Amino acid sequence: MPKMRPKMRWAWHVHHEALAEIVEPGYSLASRRRYIKQNKPVHEQELRLRLIKYVKGRVPEKVTATACREGWTLKRPIVMDGKPLLDTFERLHKKECPGCPWDGKTIFPGQIDARLRVI
Ligand SMILES: [Zn+2]
Repeated sequence: MPKMRPKMRWAWHVHHEALAEIVEPGYSLASRRRYIKQNKPVHEQELRLRLIKYVKGRVPEKVTATACREGWTLKRPIVMDGKPLLDTFERLHKKECPGCPWDGKTIFPGQIDARLRVI
């Protein structure tokens, strides 16, 4: 019998430098939220917790399959059929993440690395 692939769910901004990524099967956003509350700098937490959420729109199976093969996080250009996979998500992102500061690289634009910043 063919092995069933576990259902893959996408989420926005699981990490600050990622637009979207596949949530590992068996892992949940609740545990990531807990991690953020316990480990991320307090001044980053509100934004991180506000932006992290499951993608609601339908992601084509082909996109998910390609992402699984290439790495689950969309923070580098993964190309499918000559088009960056990120394009698929940009439209959904506009709809599902209004007012988001995402600049194509980070949810903390203007900060080189918030964790290393010296006050
Ligand atoms: Zn966003």
